[in-house]
Amino acid sequence: MDCIFCKIVAGEFGTELLGENEHAISFRDINPQAKIHILVVPKAHTSDVSKLDDPDTLTGLFELIRKVSSEQTDGQFRLQFNTGEREGQSVFHTHAHILSQGAA
Ligand code: AMP
Ligand code: ZN
Repeated sequence: MDCIFCKIVAGEFGTELLGENEHAISFRDINPQAKIHILVVPKAHTSDVSKLDDPDTLTGLFELIRKVSSEQTDGQFRLQFNTGEREGQSVFHTHAHILSQGAA
């Protein structure tokens, strides 16, 4: 499957990770829309958050969101899952955006 985030998960681009656990990775967005703009991505491929129903993956994803947001922001941030092309999704591998104007 030709999925850019699967390739990042596989380490094909040498992307610098901000965090990782058994189920998810985190890295900076290449085209930041805020002072802090981080993506948190489940390792297992699903096309968008509406398809993400595996309890272990959900737990791992949110544990990493909590860890990275506490380490990289001042505790105030927006958490966004764009779902569907009309609503702004451009990469069809589930990911959360952490957006913040305040660094830790
Ligand atoms: P979305 O529009 O919600 O699907 O978000 C996809 C995000 O992935 C966009 O904000 C892109 O800037 C970002 N992005 C695409 N390719 C990369 C990459 N290789 N490394 C980091 N971020 C990326
Ligand atoms: Zn993928």
